[in-house]
Order: sequence, then structure tokens, then C-alpha cells
Amino acid sequence: MAAASAVSCTADAWRTVREHAATAWPREACGLLIGHAMPEGWRIVRAAPAANRASDPAQAFELDPGARAAWQRRLREAGGAEAVIGHYHSHPGGAPRPSAADRARAEEEGLIWLIVAADTAGAGAAAAFFAEAAHTLRGVSFLPDAES
Ligand SMILES: [Zn+2]
Repeated sequence: MAAASAVSCTADAWRTVREHAATAWPREACGLLIGHAMPEGWRIVRAAPAANRASDPAQAFELDPGARAAWQRRLREAGGAEAVIGHYHSHPGGAPRPSAADRARAEEEGLIWLIVAADTAGAGAAAAFFAEAAHTLRGVSFLPDAES
């Protein structure tokens, strides 16, 4: 999977991320991305909003660790191909690029990071990254499905 370079996303999951980014404003929204690996990359089939436990949620995000554990257990019990493949968060008033703090906190390899800009008008541009090594977030294409 190291060479994979694209993340696709169902329209429903993408709408969930955008709506969460808009409603969390001016705080950072965060949540889990659930999906599976594909030959060309990854497919997000569901976004699961989670609580932002950061002490200053307008400046940072810290995913509720209990949310990930609960989803992993639920997905394992379901027995399907889906897994927690990464997470999303919003950048209120910022660009969809990893901040220095994001890179510092990106210690777990193999996760997809989806970052979406947000402002008073709602969610804006988004970009996806793959944590190919600790503190190394490589940009990958983000290709959400069109709304039907
Ligand atoms: Zn960030």
C-alpha cells in the first residue's frame, strides 16, 4: 500500500465531515474515518464524529480515545472488511494543510489524515494525507463521490 495515492469517499461520509466542521466552528471538529484499503488507495465509507478532548479545541484536536476503541470493537464484531483507517479534523480559519502541531502528533504510521478548512460560511477545501512514517504526512488525492 505504500505507493497508493488516492482516498475516495462516499457522499454521505463527506457530507458528515463537512457538516461537523461547520457546526463545530470556531472549534476544531474531529472524528474517525471508517473504510477499507483498495488497490489504488483507500475508500472511506463512513465518518464518525467524535468528541474533541483538546484543552483548547479552537487550536487543536485530540480524539476521544474511547471512540476509536468502541468503533474498532464494533467493526470487529460486525466481521466485515471495514476498519478504522484514519481520522479527520477541521482547521477553523486555516488551510487544509498539516500544522506543525499536527506533524508533531502524527506518531502512528498507516493512518489517513483528512483535514478540512472551515470558516463562518461552513466547510471549505479539504486535503488528505497518509502517515507513511512517524511525523511524515504525505499528500494523497482526495476524491469524494459527487452528491447524487
Ligand atoms: Zn490540524
